[in-house]
Amino acid sequence: MQEEIKVTQLVSMMKETGALLEGHFRLTSGLHSGHYMQCALLLSVPRYAEFAGGMLAEILAPLNAEAVFAPALGGVIIGHEVARHLGLPFFFAERENGAMKLRRFPKPSGIRFLVIEDVITTGGSAMEVGKLISETGSSWVGTGCIVDRSSGKAAFPHPLHSLWQASFPNFTEEDCPLCREGKPIEKPGSR
Ligand code: ZN
Repeated sequence: MQEEIKVTQLVSMMKETGALLEGHFRLTSGLHSGHYMQCALLLSVPRYAEFAGGMLAEILAPLNAEAVFAPALGGVIIGHEVARHLGLPFFFAERENGAMKLRRFPKPSGIRFLVIEDVITTGGSAMEVGKLISETGSSWVGTGCIVDRSSGKAAFPHPLHSLWQASFPNFTEEDCPLCREGKPIEKPGSR
């Protein structure tokens, strides 16, 4: 019950900051949707980032990790918050010539680590980070995100821990029920 209250709080924080919009949107892909999500807006309020990080840390604490890793940029703020709550060091990987690299930090070996992301859709970046850190004999013990939009399709070597599972349908213009209702369309981020 306590958890449900927290999820409700998280979703209202997302709405309040504009991280979750409801209406009629043209997405970058060209598809139409009744929802638009931009998690960076939730994390722009440090108190909300701390709240989400605390929730994730509570879920992931039993995995006894020794470090937290995240793909830049999306995972950096939330990964840092999770690490802070768990009292662990935090590192981020970033793309260089298309491949995820640990450019600014020495690569650890033989440690238990977590991978944190803001939103998981395909899970591609988080997967790359997990594989990269595992290469030198470390154990990838868990993955966490604020919002899981993968509908169970992200294939991690262990269950994905998320604060909120959300799947919003997208439509082509021809099949869009919101277009049919004559609802005006917006392009998020262009306001
Ligand atoms: Zn439409």
